[in-house]
Amino acid sequence: MPQYAMTIGGARVTGTATFEVVNPATGRPHAEAPDCDEGQLDDAFTAAHEAYKSWRRNERARRRALHAAADLLTRRTGQLAPVLTAEQGKPLKDAAYEIGGAAWWLRYAADLPIPHEVMRDDPAAHVEVVRRPMGVVAAITPWNFPLMLACWKIGPALLAGNTMVLKPSPWTPLTTLAFGELMREVLPPGVLNVVSGLDPLGASMTAHPVPRKISFTGSVATGTKVAVAAARDLKRVTLELGGNDPAIVLDDADPHAVAPQLFRYAFENNGQLCSAIKRVYVPERLHDDLVGAMAKLAAEARVGNGFEASVQFGPVNNRPQLERIIDLVADARDRGAHIAAGGEPGVGPGYFYRPTIVTGVGDDARVVAEEQFGPVLPILPYRSVEEAVRRANDTHFGLDASVWGGNTERAAEVAEGLECGTTWINTHFAVHPGRPFGGHKFSGIGVENGRLGLEAFTEVQVRHSPLPR
Ligand code: NAD
Repeated sequence: MPQYAMTIGGARVTGTATFEVVNPATGRPHAEAPDCDEGQLDDAFTAAHEAYKSWRRNERARRRALHAAADLLTRRTGQLAPVLTAEQGKPLKDAAYEIGGAAWWLRYAADLPIPHEVMRDDPAAHVEVVRRPMGVVAAITPWNFPLMLACWKIGPALLAGNTMVLKPSPWTPLTTLAFGELMREVLPPGVLNVVSGLDPLGASMTAHPVPRKISFTGSVATGTKVAVAAARDLKRVTLELGGNDPAIVLDDADPHAVAPQLFRYAFENNGQLCSAIKRVYVPERLHDDLVGAMAKLAAEARVGNGFEASVQFGPVNNRPQLERIIDLVADARDRGAHIAAGGEPGVGPGYFYRPTIVTGVGDDARVVAEEQFGPVLPILPYRSVEEAVRRANDTHFGLDASVWGGNTERAAEVAEGLECGTTWINTHFAVHPGRPFGGHKFSGIGVENGRLGLEAFTEVQVRHSPLPR
């Protein structure tokens, strides 16, 4: 099996131990990744700390390096996309799309202005507010969009003058490890260190004395542990956590027109997307038409190995996640749900599960109340818009939401009542590297992307001098 390596202090480092990475389309291990030990983690943080001393000094060099990183990543898309498909499961064209997105995010960050404000400039005083880097950032990512979400962190963190130790999920470490090797061509040693290991490595990173900031993307359960660990020495945190995004269809929507869009944003990446539509609220009058249209799309979906050209949806990423989907659908069935499409795992050793449409459940069914993070979508009828908004907000989650209707002004008014980080009208998951992205309530702390995301990798410094400079 191919053995991947870590990048520590600009060097290729193999593990004293390794762990196997499974291809979810076959259910079989296909590569090995290093299991970083405590000494190697210390080396990574020491290398990042050393590199910080010079990296923070030259903003122009940082911008050049980030552009070079984006260009190199773009050129090597064909090399990395199959690595991503083999470990994550997504179809090859989606893997290439993710890598293209990651490069776009790096390129955009390379040109972001670093905020700097003169607050007073007169004969008595010159006062300015500048943004200083924080030092070493510990970055931890999940398995759904491993490279894209890493680059959401790498671009702004490095631009601001920080250095980084990055740990991908043990389910999908390979693309990030390969990216780390690639980045040795364009980044000075120690600026970006990539380590891999099982979940305890994440805990060791958050407990480590060197990093001053933890940038974490993952589940609410783990994010809570990260926040507790960070509190001990007051590390700064950005937490991008789970979502249970509602879509509210209004009574002036055409169910046949909105169904393909709702389907797309519910099942993108097999529903393994923090911002996937995870619950649809629809007026009683439109319920059956919408369910029929969505069930037809689900029945037509082409599910299979992501390396086959015609495949629309690959396998679920890992066995525990597949079992969770099976459990959620069983719970819905026990509560008398109607499964309008799908509802069974595929045959074979791969972790396949067809897009599934569930109706006839209450908001207390697990598939509605919890984040399913997989290819199952509940469709829920409502009687009044006020009721739909109340039910949409009746959750600890607060990542995003969308409202769908013929009259966009009315839809926007309805969206004003939603408690979450982003609302969309007649679309969903329209994200951009210049726009802040983050969750309210349990869906996170802080934002990524754009000016606000960049500021989250800096500390404010006020500079007051008695004479104008
Ligand atoms: P997870 O929380 O299980 O793991 C995420 C990362 O945390 C992994 O790298 C894991 O190894 C690491 N980790 C595990 N235990 C840790 C600990 N004690 N301390 C530090 N790190 C630890 O999440 P997952 O299953 O990989 O990802 C799915 C979740 O991520 C979903 O809830 C999804 O909504 C969320 N997510 C959120 C966003 C967002 O931007 N808001 C984006 C993508 C995914």
